[in-house]
Amino acid sequence: MDNRADGIQSSAFPTLADDQIEFLRRYGEVRKIEPGQVLFREGDRSYDFIVILEGEVEIVDNFEGEARTIAVHGACRFLGEMNMLTGQSVYLSAVMRESGEVLAIPPEKLKAIITEEPTLSDIILKAFLARRSVLMRVGTGLRIVGSRRSKDALRLREFAVRNRLPHRWIELEEDGGAEALLGRFGVQPQETPVAIWLGEKVLKNPSNAELARTIGLDVDTSREQMYEIIVVGAGPAGLAAAVYGASEGLATLSLEAVALGGQAGTSSRIENYLGFPAGLSGAELASRALVQADKFGARITVPQEAVGLRRENNHYRVTLSEGGEVAGRSVIVATGARYRRLDIPRLERFEGVSVHYAATEAEAQMCRGNEVAVVGGGNSAGQAAVFLADRVAKVYLLIRGGDLGKSMSRYLIDRIERTDNIELLSHIGVRELMGDGALEGVVVEDNRSGERRILRARALFVFIGAEANTGWLKGTIALDERGFVPTGRTLDRCALDSQAWNGLSREPFMLESSQPGIFAVGDVRSGSVKRVASAVGEGSMAVRFVHQYLAEMSAPQRSRVT
Ligand SMILES: Cc1cc2nc3c(=O)[nH]c(=O)nc-3n(C[C@H](O)[C@H](O)[C@H](O)COP(=O)(O)OP(=O)(O)OC[C@H]3O[C@@H](n4cnc5c(N)ncnc54)[C@H](O)[C@@H]3O)c2cc1C
Repeated sequence: MDNRADGIQSSAFPTLADDQIEFLRRYGEVRKIEPGQVLFREGDRSYDFIVILEGEVEIVDNFEGEARTIAVHGACRFLGEMNMLTGQSVYLSAVMRESGEVLAIPPEKLKAIITEEPTLSDIILKAFLARRSVLMRVGTGLRIVGSRRSKDALRLREFAVRNRLPHRWIELEEDGGAEALLGRFGVQPQETPVAIWLGEKVLKNPSNAELARTIGLDVDTSREQMYEIIVVGAGPAGLAAAVYGASEGLATLSLEAVALGGQAGTSSRIENYLGFPAGLSGAELASRALVQADKFGARITVPQEAVGLRRENNHYRVTLSEGGEVAGRSVIVATGARYRRLDIPRLERFEGVSVHYAATEAEAQMCRGNEVAVVGGGNSAGQAAVFLADRVAKVYLLIRGGDLGKSMSRYLIDRIERTDNIELLSHIGVRELMGDGALEGVVVEDNRSGERRILRARALFVFIGAEANTGWLKGTIALDERGFVPTGRTLDRCALDSQAWNGLSREPFMLESSQPGIFAVGDVRSGSVKRVASAVGEGSMAVRFVHQYLAEMSAPQRSRVT
C-alpha cells in the first residue's frame, strides 16, 4: 500500500476516545446485538449512526449471494459513510460477528453533532470522506457491464466516477466472467451497457437520471417552494454560492446537470488552491463542499439540468430538463464552460469512445497500455498529460505554438519535462482521425513545414479553450459576443432590461447580469479569471449581493424609486 493509501486507511477507520463516546451517549440509545444481526443492509435509504461499544461488526459486500468482507470494526469504532449525510442508499451491509453492544444515534441527531461539535465533526467527516475513497478503490456497490467501445458505457462510468458512486466496471471484451454474469441476469451482450444494482435490479442502458433515481441520488426537487436563491451549476463557483447562501440562512436550491465539482471535478490534482499544499483532487473538493452545503441545509440536486429561465412578477422560474419548473427570488448562474471541439472531419464518430474532454480514471482505464495524445497548452492539458502518463504507455502533448511557458504554470512544465513518457510536439495541429469505431491513429501536421505524421494514439484528449454553458439563457439576459455573461460595469446600459430595472435606483452590482436579481459567477462570467479560487471567491461574494437585492425587493416601493 502506498503512503497515500495508508493515510486514507487511517482516517477511514479512527478509534473514538472514551470521553468522546461518553459525549455521544446523550444523542442515542444503547442496544444489545446478537451475532448475525444486521445493523444496516445495502439499499437502505436511512440508518442509524452506530458506535460499537462491545463486539465486532463486519462490513460486507453482497453480490449474487457471494459475501466479500470489506472491513471489520471493533469496539470504539463507528459505522457509516458519506451516504448518511447525502441521503444516498447504502452500498454495503453491516453484520454483527459476535454478541455485543452498540450505541445507535438517529441520522438527524448525527447532523446536529456535526454542526455543534467541531472535534467529533472533523473525525466523522474525514472518516466518511476517506471511506468513500476506499469504496471507490475497492470497486463495490453498483456493477456497470459494457464494452470499452460503447459511448453509453463510458457515459455511465463517467457519471459514476464524477459523482463518486462506488461501482465496479466489468468490461465485456476483457473480463472472462462478464458474459456469464450477463447470462445469469438474462441479458444479451448486445443489450449492454447495463447497470446492476444490489445484485438484482438490472437497468439496460439507463439515462443518468434513471440510474441516479435507482440508487437514491437526490433528483427530486420541491416544485412548490419559493427559494431565495436558485444556484444553477455546482462547480466550485456554484458550490461556494450554495454553501454561503445556506450558511447565511437563505433558502438555497442548487441544480447540477452532470456531477458536483464541474470542470474542477475532472482535475486529478489541483495544486494551487490555497490551503492545500499537497494539492487535492477535484472530486475530493466537491465531496467536502457537498458535506458543507448539506450541513448548512442547502438542497443540491444531481442530475438536474436547467433548460430555461424567465421572469414572472418579481421572481424567476427555472425550467428543468426532466420537466417542470422551480421558482426563486434570485438566481446565481454558475454553469461554467466546457472545452471547445476540434474542427476536424469525423470527430463525432469518436467522441465519447476515443475522443475525450476530461481525463479521469474512467477514461484512463480505457487507454491502459496504449499511446494517447493530449491537445492543448494550458494547465488543464498539462494536468491531463501528467495524470495519464502514470496510467498509459505514452502521452504525446500537442501544442499549436512553440512554447509551453506562454500558457502553462511552471510547476506543470517542470513535471512534464521530468516525465519520460510524455513527448511534447510543438507547432502541431491535428488533421485527421484514423480508424472506424475506435481510434487507431491521429494524423498531425507541423504548421510551419506542412509535414504530416501519424501518431499511433488510441485516444485523444482535447483541452483547447472553453465555450460558455449559456445556451439555456439565450433571450433572458445579455451575453457577450462569445456567449459569456457580462456583469456590473462591463454591461452595456442598453442591454439592461428597462422594465425590470424600472424603480431601482442603482447600477447593476458587480456580479449582476442585465436582469436584476440574476447573478453570474465563475467561468461563465465574461472576463472572469478561469481558476478554482476565483470561482469560489465569486460564488461566495454573490451571496452578499443577493442579500442586498432581496432587501431592496422587500422594501416599500417608494424607497426603491429615485
Ligand atoms: C482538467 C482541468 C484541470 C484544472 N485545473 C485547475 C487547477 O489546477 N487550478 C485552478 O485554479 N483551476 C483549474 N482548472 C480550471 C477550474 O476548474 C475552473 O476555472 C473552475 O472549475 C470553474 O468553476 P465554475 O464553477 O465557474 O464552472 P465549472 O467548473 O465549469 O462548473 C459548472 C457546472 O455547471 C454545470 N452546468 C452547466 N450547464 C448547466 C445547466 N444548464 N444546468 C445545470 N447545471 C449546469 C456543469 O455540469 C458544471 O458542473 C482546471 C480545469 C480543468 C478542466
